[in-house]
Amino acid sequence: MTIVVASSNPAKATELETILRSLFDEPVEIVLAADILGNEWTVEESGTTLEENAYLKASHVFERVFLPTIADDTGLEVEALAGLPGVRTARFAGENATAVDNNRLLLEKLKDATNRRAQFRTVICYRDRFRTLLAEGICTGTIADSPRGSGGFGYDPLFVPDGYDRTFAEMEAHEKNRLSHRARALQSLVERLRELWA
Ligand code: IMP
Repeated sequence: MTIVVASSNPAKATELETILRSLFDEPVEIVLAADILGNEWTVEESGTTLEENAYLKASHVFERVFLPTIADDTGLEVEALAGLPGVRTARFAGENATAVDNNRLLLEKLKDATNRRAQFRTVICYRDRFRTLLAEGICTGTIADSPRGSGGFGYDPLFVPDGYDRTFAEMEAHEKNRLSHRARALQSLVERLRELWA
């Protein structure tokens, strides 16, 4: 069984790969889209929802490699910002914003907020010759007052998942990978694939 992971973010691709391997009972070969198509394979995330963007990425790669392909799109949904940045999470502070820029802007926007509740929502799209599946995973938590920790990526230094007092960036990778939005979406996808393949 080979699954192609359509992600150009190395930290995210590693997470997807580690989690996927842990979920399948049989050996599964995980291949990155860049390994087959080169680093130029990327597609513009022009959708207006996480679902559309995950579908766009998975389809772009699947239609070139014809192997089972998964892509994820993740948004941070902040209650005090009416669900923003949502689908604009990567570009919150501008088109070429870095994680530091995005985190700084988020703290700025929440500086007077008493409600710091937020959730990460991941949508995974799986495509093969027979089907297209979408699976969702949510991890709820709060936005810290300042960045903490050096692990993970993106908004991890600001996100404290419910039930913990550490940010994702202060956790070991295996801890984050057990409870994250991405892990939950993959778990749900793999359960559906198991049913279909049974
Ligand atoms: P995308 O899913 O690659 O489009 O990511 C959207 C944005 O969410 C980017 O800014 C990522 O850095 C951020 N992001 C995605 N997943 C995570 C995560 O697990 N932790 C922290 N930030 C994330």
